[in-house]
Amino acid sequence: MKNITLLGATGSIGTQTLEVVKQHPDRFNIAAISFGQNIERGIDIIKAFKPELVAVKNEQVKDELLHALSLHNIRVVSGLEGLIEAATYPNADILVNAVMGSVGLKPTLAAIHSGKDIAIANKETLVTAGHFVMEKANEKGVRLLPVDSEHSAIFQSLEGHRCEDVSRLILTASGGSFRDRTREELKDVSVQDALNHPNWSMGAKITIDSATLMNKGLEVIEAHWLFNMPYEKIDVVIHKESIVHSLVEYYDKSVIAQLGNPDMKGPIQYALSYPERLELKDVKRLNLWEAGTLHFQKVDMNRFRSLALAYEAGRTGGSLPTVLNAANEAAVEHFLKGRIAFLDIESLVESALEAHKVIKNPDLETIEEIDSQTRRFINDKAADI
Ligand code: NDP
Ligand code: MG
Repeated sequence: MKNITLLGATGSIGTQTLEVVKQHPDRFNIAAISFGQNIERGIDIIKAFKPELVAVKNEQVKDELLHALSLHNIRVVSGLEGLIEAATYPNADILVNAVMGSVGLKPTLAAIHSGKDIAIANKETLVTAGHFVMEKANEKGVRLLPVDSEHSAIFQSLEGHRCEDVSRLILTASGGSFRDRTREELKDVSVQDALNHPNWSMGAKITIDSATLMNKGLEVIEAHWLFNMPYEKIDVVIHKESIVHSLVEYYDKSVIAQLGNPDMKGPIQYALSYPERLELKDVKRLNLWEAGTLHFQKVDMNRFRSLALAYEAGRTGGSLPTVLNAANEAAVEHFLKGRIAFLDIESLVESALEAHKVIKNPDLETIEEIDSQTRRFINDKAADI
């Protein structure tokens, strides 16, 4: 029996993690959860999974929750401290980090410190402070098991091989909601259009990131850290069907890929059951004759500026990936609230990168300071648009 702490239980990955857990009651148990402010969904989860500890966003949500439920034998905590308490909950064997954004950084570091393995969906943590997180994980001998489908695919395609034999990692990208539109056609797209992803049903922020291809940029940086791979050995290819989840090329030119119908329950379950493979009932089997033709296309870096910016931030390193991530989080939030246009996201991110003076090897305090500074910079700029 594996006891799990699930951060971000009410979200898209959180919900699918709970579906996986429900399928294997003899293997997985939810020991602790966190959520932000979706109380209705939070209550359903508490009733169904009976966690021992629940962390919520703030005191107000905590009060509302305590008011709505008479919680016996359940401890409710709040804020960042609560999130950290859940992440380090002694009765849990593994942490699934499925919160959205760099708010996931401190809980991740705390879980590493307490020696827990982490199934990591929260890619922003690795982008904003990859050098720091990996250093601590290596020091503690903690495993970071990828939940992101591309990284799970690479992880699976690397099994039984030596990292030094790898010549290239190839991440596939669906191209998001606007894959076939020109930049001209992107000028007036609405929030609703951008949220309409062709292949995956995900949280709002990552769906916008998929449309700009910033998601792929964040994933390039995530792959750099998870697999200790230099940027010149990480490529991206557009693959609109999202059936080939990513590929590894070896020096003998052999390429190993992982395939499946797009469903996050696969990578989530593998991170939880690794190295075992368990039956996964409600995922559609891949029949290649039904898939028919698979398409692959080179990425046009001028069309998808965000991906070029992410490569630049990753290659430069130091504090620049922190700026990339914070600027993007803040800009996407403005777009989702209807305050800026779609193309403003990448121009705001670009202006934040240009304005930043890079600090080599930033410590945690510096990372947090740069994260807040960048958000302020974007908020000011967005107000002028
Ligand atoms: P969602 O927006 O659907 O869910 C985010 C979760 O985090 C919710 O439970 C939310 O709570 C909680 N949360 C948000 N802000 C805070 C906060 N300040 N404090 C505490 N909790 C908070 O996101 P996704 O599930 O789509 O994505 C989660 C992570 O996984 C992201 O990093 C994303 O990039 C990554 N990922 C997602 C994939 C997907 O298919 N969705 C695929 C691959 C990676 P509440 O809603 O209750 O406020
Ligand atoms: Mg992904």
